[in-house]
Order: sequence, then C-alpha cells, then structure tokens
Amino acid sequence: MTVKTRFAPSPTGFLHVGGARTALFSWLYTKSKGGKFVLRIEDTDVERSTQEAVDAILEGMTWMGLTWDEGPFYQTKRFDRYKELILKLLDEKKAYKCYCSKERVNQLRNLQESAGEAPRYDGKCRDLIDQESNAPFVVRFKNPKLGSVSFDDHVRNNIEFSNTELDDLIIQRTDGTPTYNFCVVVDDWDMQITHVIRGEDHINNTPRQINILHALGAPIPEYAHVAMILGDDGAKLSKRHGAVSVMQFRNDGYLPEALKNYLVRLGWSHGDQEIFSEAEMIELFSLDKINKAPSAFNNEKLIWLNQHYMKTLDPDYVADHLKWHMQTQNIDTTNGPQLSAVVSALAERAKTLVDLASSSRYFFEEYKEFDAKAAKKHLRPVAKAALELVQQKLQACTTWTDEILQALIQECADELEVNMGKVGMPLRVAITGAGQSPSLDVTLRLIGKERCLTRISRALAFIATREAAQ
Ligand code: GLU
Repeated sequence: MTVKTRFAPSPTGFLHVGGARTALFSWLYTKSKGGKFVLRIEDTDVERSTQEAVDAILEGMTWMGLTWDEGPFYQTKRFDRYKELILKLLDEKKAYKCYCSKERVNQLRNLQESAGEAPRYDGKCRDLIDQESNAPFVVRFKNPKLGSVSFDDHVRNNIEFSNTELDDLIIQRTDGTPTYNFCVVVDDWDMQITHVIRGEDHINNTPRQINILHALGAPIPEYAHVAMILGDDGAKLSKRHGAVSVMQFRNDGYLPEALKNYLVRLGWSHGDQEIFSEAEMIELFSLDKINKAPSAFNNEKLIWLNQHYMKTLDPDYVADHLKWHMQTQNIDTTNGPQLSAVVSALAERAKTLVDLASSSRYFFEEYKEFDAKAAKKHLRPVAKAALELVQQKLQACTTWTDEILQALIQECADELEVNMGKVGMPLRVAITGAGQSPSLDVTLRLIGKERCLTRISRALAFIATREAAQ
C-alpha cells in the first residue's frame, strides 16, 4: 500500500502556522514512508474562497519547501463527480430528498435548544414513500440510526461516537451544490488517501465522513487529529499574538528551515532533540509521537532556531534569502561585497534576516549620518591623529585581507602608543557611522578600500567642524 496524505486548505485566507504545521506533519509522514503528498484546494465555499488566498497558500507551501506530488486539485472542478455519487446514493436509498422548509428546520432547532437538547434533524423526510415533488429540496445522507462509529486515531487513540448523536447530514444544498463533508469524503476516496492528518477541529466530522465512506463502499483511511496551537497566553493562536501567516514569518526575516524546524517540534518530539535537518525529520517523524495536548507558540525559540540556521547553513543559500530582504529594504547590492560574505560576517550578530539586511546597509551605501552618541564619544579631536594614520596606511595597503588589515590597525596603535580601542573605535564609527560592527578587519575588508578612505575623510571633516565649533 502506498501511503498517501493530503493537505486540504480552504482558500479563505493566507496559510497560517497551524495549517502549515498540519501540512508539514502530513508531508513528513508521507516522505518517511516513501509515499505521495496531495494538495487539494477546498474551494466549495465560493463566497469566501478567493484566488488571492489560493495564491497565498501555494506561495506559503512553496516557501516552506512543502512540495506536492499531486495537485493542486480544486473541488469546484469536481462538481460532476460529487453529483454522480449523490445520485447513486439516492438511487440506492442511502440518501434522500428532504423538502422541509428552512422555517421548519429552524423551528425544530429552537425547540430542541430550549429543551436543552443538541440540535438535530428529526428525519421527517427520511422515510417518505414518494420522493418526487417539484418543491425545493436538499439531499440528506441516511446516517445509520443504531450502533456507533469508532476509529483509532493516531494521536488520540480510540474515539467512538454513537450514531444517535449524528443526524442526517445535508450533502447537497437546495441550489444543487454539494456540501463540505461530502466533497472531502469523495476526494479522500478518489485520491486514494490512506492517512488523513488534520486539525482536531475536524474530529466531529470524522464519524460522519466514515459513515458516508461506508455507504459508498470506500475504504476508511487512518486518522490523526492534531491539537491546536496556542499563543503564549494560553488562548488560541491568532493575529494579536504576532505573526501567524507563513509569509509574514518570511517578511519578518525567518528562514524556512527555522520555521519548519520550529513547527515540527510544536507538538511532536523525538527525545529532547531540538534541531532537526530535513533528512532527520523525515527519518524520525512518526504520528504516534504527536502530542495530544495543545502546544504554545514561543517566539524566543523560533528566533534561536533562526539564528542557528543563519549561522550554520551554507552562506550562499542564506544569501539567496537575504537578497529578498535587501530588495525590500531598498538596499542596492550591485556595488559592494558578495552577499554570502555579508552573511558570514553578520549572521552571528543578527536575529533575523531583517536585522541582517538593515545592519549591512553600510556595506553597500553611504550611511546617512553618524550615530550621534557614537560620534560624540569617538569622533573627538583626540581621534584625529589615529584616523589620519590609519588612512595613510590604508591608502598604501595593497593586500586587502583580514590579516593584513588587522596588523595594520595594530601598527597604528603601537606607533601612537595608545591601546587598540583608541584607534579601533574612531575607525569603526568613521567607516560604519555607528559604534557597532563585526570585527574591524572583516568590516574594512567588506567595505573596500575606496569607500573606507572616503569615509575616514568624512569623519575627519566631522571632527574638524566640531573642533571649529569649540
Ligand atoms: N478544508 C478544511 C480546512 O481548511 C480541512 C479539511 C480536512 O483536512 O479534512 O479546515
């Protein structure tokens, strides 16, 4: 049996982390079994589904590297198939036309609710002898009246529902369109899905879907219902907790590897291991290790993982992602060091690619003005001699390497008989505009000779103005 899982989002909004985690679990499980992953767009709710949301979902999946082997399938393109099976069920008397008016159904619900009962259709049309009429109708599935439905959920173990709790579900609306639960069932069957991995908010649908699958003579897939993701305050994760859309995490400067690693650990574990390469995730993932309890989203941990991946992944790869942020921040990278060199120099100090991009601006363009505090402290008349000497030596320097540059700064300090900081800090402020940067040799190397010389002149001019003003 080839394992086949699916991710079946409704395109009513962006791809949020909850959905992305479900997709990731499905994807990992399939990959771990050498199976196939299906992407299905559940767009039957035409009022709420949008092309924009479809695009956002595909973009999020692609960014996360959650590639699909089949699809994307669109339910709106499969209406003929649903119709065919509804007719078949009607024909086999496993479904029936219900002519009850909305008013009657509403009234029934009100009565049941005021009697403290769960609202359910009372089956008035279930046994109508003559089904034909010109009146508008819905089609209802004849749910078994007796017995129970049970399934062995991979996360929550055995789950059982009594059929008396389930009423006759509408599978076709008055306008002839099929309803959500019916489409899911037909698709899972037609697409030969072996494992349905989805959010636990669908648990109540599962017994109904199993009953319909039985009626259709379809095999029953295995199920794994994954618990919710909560915010740090214990409430269901939502926008007010911060980013929830996958692409927002991209915008905020996270690498897909970090988000993926973060999400795999959110509700799944392998001992106390925190860092997983994709190959390890695939090798180690198992449905039975998914946590029953909801998990809380922890931004600090995501940042920690992001730092780990920025530092340890191939700088060329990180640079590809950084490029997008450089563009977003309007930093023209055509003139300056290789982005991968920037990654190697700055990854250690940055939390996100957004930080990395903004703190690398001075490698590519002139800084606007000196950081006031840093300039006040380090660009003082006493720094003039040091800056002039460094400038002289840099001017004469023909081998622009970390080692030579480091030695050169040391030489200046030695010649002036001051400690390194007296040379290093003014120099740092001169070439970066601020008081913080990676080590000076690396910073000088990446900024390049010409720019460094111009900037030292700029700092000297600043000092001169300051001197004149005194
Ligand atoms: N379309 C459903 C949703 O977005 C998922 C259905 C399923 O996985 O069975 O919540």
